[in-house]
Amino acid sequence: MENSSRRVAIKIAVTVVLLAGVYFFVAEKIRRPIEIDGGYREVMGTLARIVVVAKHERQARRCIETGFGELVRIDKMMSDYKPDSELSKVNREAFANPVKVSPELFEILQKSVEFSRLSNGAFDVTVGPLVDLWHKAGEANVVPDENTLAAAKARVGFEKLILDANERTVQFAVKGMRLDLGGIAKGYAVDKAVGAMRREGAIGGMVCASGDIRCFGKPADKDTWRVGLQNPVAANQPASNGAIGAEQVLMVLKVNDMAVSTSGDYRRFVAIGRKRYSHIIDTSTATGASKLSSDTILAANAVDTDALSTAVNVMGAQKGLALVESLAGVEAILITAGPEYQVVKSSGADTYLQ
Ligand code: AMP
Ligand code: MG
Repeated sequence: MENSSRRVAIKIAVTVVLLAGVYFFVAEKIRRPIEIDGGYREVMGTLARIVVVAKHERQARRCIETGFGELVRIDKMMSDYKPDSELSKVNREAFANPVKVSPELFEILQKSVEFSRLSNGAFDVTVGPLVDLWHKAGEANVVPDENTLAAAKARVGFEKLILDANERTVQFAVKGMRLDLGGIAKGYAVDKAVGAMRREGAIGGMVCASGDIRCFGKPADKDTWRVGLQNPVAANQPASNGAIGAEQVLMVLKVNDMAVSTSGDYRRFVAIGRKRYSHIIDTSTATGASKLSSDTILAANAVDTDALSTAVNVMGAQKGLALVESLAGVEAILITAGPEYQVVKSSGADTYLQ
């Protein structure tokens, strides 16, 4: 008698435990994911923002910290402002002898050269001496003379960058060369942040570092992420007749699992006298790129969109669009220089517009 009542009690206990297990399993499965906006933080000399979708708040918060952590880590490695960055060491030593670098720095340099070849030199991470020269010219408020420009130009050119994949070393062929990863490192860092957040369990999210954004998964309560494309005219000066209007957000892109990068001269430029020079340099003329007011590139990952947006900004509408059309899975929305400010789109760009 005692035995049988004990058996019943055990059966009840087992059933309760099983039911509780099933309940928690189902509850976990049907629980709506939570979306948390991690807000803006200052990283890489700009503002970065991370939004994450995860199963629960604790995980979402962990993903946000992981994502920002990656942005900071890559900045420490690739900043040309920080004297103790790995890039600064390369800039100091790579003419004297080959410098062994980390796999990540080597990877971004290989990518950079790939995009230099693809864009016929429009994208060029050896642009450092010209960036420096124009920065100083802005401070002195004097346009550099031909000789100074030519001297800086002689120290620029991706074909003078020697990468040895076996030794994983970097060397400069010409004295005074300087790498500047400003046109690609933010996109690379954004990709790294997305990867780390996914490994931490994020099911969706958006990482944004200034003009470079990558989205993955879906927002918690919508089907697509929405990325506003800023109007360079509104940020600049009133549009002339027939040009785009003056509203702040020109278009809204709807994207999932995509990166979007915008390059332009409307926020960062060098002013000398009454003239503005873009911070993006056309290395063929050694001066600021002037063909486009802004250009936005869409592709699968941010390192590609970042490099391509800088390249296309130099190339202009015709050549830039031809490059974009030649690449699978890449779209572009360009705004030509003023006073025309015409919008030019690649053949598949409308898919992402409202
Ligand atoms: P982005 O905003 O991505 O177009 O990058 C602009 C930054 O890239 C500049 O501030 C420079 O640091 C760097 N840069 C300028 N000109 C070039 C160029 N022709 N190729 C690659 N990077 C460049
Ligand atoms: Mg770029």
